[in-house]
Amino acid sequence: MDFQPYIPGLSPAEAGPLSRFIPPLEQGVISAWLPPHAATSTWLLDPFGFSPRLVLEAARAGYRVLVTVNNPVTRFLLEMSANPPSESDFKAALAELETSKKGDERLGAHLQSLYLTTCEKCGREINAESFLWRKGEDAPYARVYTCPHCEDSGERVATQQDIDRAKKIAATDGLHRSRAFERVVKLDDEDRVYAEEAITYYLPRPLYVLTTIINRLDSLNLTPERRRALNALILVACDAGNTLWDHPTQRPRPKQLNVPGQFREHNLWSQLERGLSLWAETASGVVCEAWPNKLPGSGGICIYEGRLKDLAHEVKKEIPIAAVVGSVPRPNQAFWTLSALWAGWLWGREAVEPYKLALRRRRYDWAWNATALNAAFAHLFDLLPLGTPFFGLLPEPEPSFLTSALTAASAAGFDLQSLALRTEHDPIQLLWARGEHLKREANEANMDDVREAIHSHLVERGEPASYLHAHAAGLITLAESHALKQQDQEFDEAMRATQSLIQRALAEDARFVHYSTGESVDTGLWGLQENVTLSEAKGLYHSEKDSSVAKLPQNDINDSLSDRVEVAIVTFLQKNPNSIYLEIEDDLYPRFPGLLTPPKAMIYSVLLSYAERDGAAWKLRPEDAASARRNELNTITAMIEIVGTRLGYVTGKRDKNYLWEENNSKGRVTPPLRYAFYFLASALIGRAIAETPYPPEQTLIVIPGGRAALAAYKAQRDPALAARMKNYRLVKYRLLRALVEVPVLTRETFEEQIASDPLEKSKSQMIMF
Ligand SMILES: [Zn+2]
Repeated sequence: MDFQPYIPGLSPAEAGPLSRFIPPLEQGVISAWLPPHAATSTWLLDPFGFSPRLVLEAARAGYRVLVTVNNPVTRFLLEMSANPPSESDFKAALAELETSKKGDERLGAHLQSLYLTTCEKCGREINAESFLWRKGEDAPYARVYTCPHCEDSGERVATQQDIDRAKKIAATDGLHRSRAFERVVKLDDEDRVYAEEAITYYLPRPLYVLTTIINRLDSLNLTPERRRALNALILVACDAGNTLWDHPTQRPRPKQLNVPGQFREHNLWSQLERGLSLWAETASGVVCEAWPNKLPGSGGICIYEGRLKDLAHEVKKEIPIAAVVGSVPRPNQAFWTLSALWAGWLWGREAVEPYKLALRRRRYDWAWNATALNAAFAHLFDLLPLGTPFFGLLPEPEPSFLTSALTAASAAGFDLQSLALRTEHDPIQLLWARGEHLKREANEANMDDVREAIHSHLVERGEPASYLHAHAAGLITLAESHALKQQDQEFDEAMRATQSLIQRALAEDARFVHYSTGESVDTGLWGLQENVTLSEAKGLYHSEKDSSVAKLPQNDINDSLSDRVEVAIVTFLQKNPNSIYLEIEDDLYPRFPGLLTPPKAMIYSVLLSYAERDGAAWKLRPEDAASARRNELNTITAMIEIVGTRLGYVTGKRDKNYLWEENNSKGRVTPPLRYAFYFLASALIGRAIAETPYPPEQTLIVIPGGRAALAAYKAQRDPALAARMKNYRLVKYRLLRALVEVPVLTRETFEEQIASDPLEKSKSQMIMF
């Protein structure tokens, strides 16, 4: 496979509305991928429509993007981000709602009063930001506020008044609840029970606030643009109002409708106001039309509300699709069910009708996902010309999700051409091409192929890999040999077989080592057994009659990925001082494509060790310029010679080591080695250990102090390296420099000083992510 480099992007400055349900993608990725693959103003197709930002970015880059969307909420998000109302429309719409009357009161004041609480410090009545609940209880146990009068702020125990207020609203709950589901489905609808169930994820107070606002909508005097703006604000409140906000936050991106043990009830009026800033973020508009209206050559978005199946035939006749792009969908029962509910509240029952199936609470498993994806891929196969590229982003990757996507695509006749994986926290970047035959021969899955694919990835990597990486290496080889699914297999059966094949390939092969706290194969890291342990190899030194360097047996371990990344970044900065982070990634990723893509934490660890930042530009520290490091090395070896001689050793350089040996005048055959120094300007500890032939207990690896945190970072992410490092002592340059100044240095105090300079001291500077 011709692995493509990972395309770097930037995290959006603002998460945007409903961000916990929208795929977490980086910006700048799709606009970087497109130009080499499709000419501007050609048509693109997003068959999933899960990421409004992705579509918008492609349209802004000058492409005509046809999007199929069957979720009315996603459709609304897409239209809003393509063409947002002005800030003044948002403000005017909210003001109109706020000042409308509820009896003698303004509606805004009435709804805010539901959240009144008493400041614990100054005793005044203020608005709570939220109330905290325990699952199953009928009143909140705490409130969260910031007092505008005395600035008392934080979580406080609920008062009797808070409890009474919550119970009072609950007393009239039945009426609001039935109103709420009648906007979604008819009373006699067979799906009524599903709507009722979905509404149980709303407490009485937020449900009262939402239904009160929604029932008011039609009597407000709003322009269509302001009505759209108000709908957008209400949508934010609809999401803020359910019980899927765990406290403290552990699952920030819910997938299932489950009430957490403790959760947060937001002040919904405040959330409406917060919506103003959320939506105002979305920048200038692009042309947005509904199918079958056409788009100008300068680009835009054409929305088809419905299923790809129904569109495929028309597109094939009328529109040549140059490329397919999209965020590969993963099941989200919570978002899909709530979307049906919100669509009913905002736009009425007709809007829910085509999407009503989503209300039925069901278990969406990965086999279900593969079946649905396969149907989409099969329709795409029909409408696309041979060879059409499909760039897919797979967010929040996990092994089953990747298996599902690759199996679905392969079974529908799409050939996997590249897979770039950074970490399990970044979207996987996939490239397929529409293949030649839909009904092609499926091959038997071959365990040896999978084993060799994983083995060669680990050899290439030179360090352990996450299970996801090993799994991906296995999947790629199965995809290439069309062995992910046999024709007579169902998706669940095929996916189980694939998973078990990959896991057995790892577990039943003595060449692989599992680094994990758990038993399960699909956790932790997988690495390679080193075929001759280094300590055995070092033992050769003692048996040699002369002290010539013992040859280490060649084992099949490369320089580790992190060592190679370190070298590449330093080389790049030597040639390109004052580069910004994205330029560093742009240079790095093509050198380490596909499964080798280095994580950001690794890049930053190297940068923080070697470089300094001036604004956004990175350059090597003056002491890390190559010439400065050479001078320092000369100074330090001279010092080592002085100290060694003072302590009565015979000193000398041998290959890459500097040795202190006992005086050999008594005619012993083997010079008794006391210390072997190995000097590094880098943090290439793995290479140092492999190269130095002397016993670990007598070897001192000497590194600049600025490398200590990087060495610790490498040891922390690579348990194989950590195990090798345990036998060695790392010493910093500055300690040796200080020892020269000690007036009465003995062999004992030298040993004590060396022992007192542990690497762990630097750990506080480490960045962990
Ligand atoms: Zn106060």
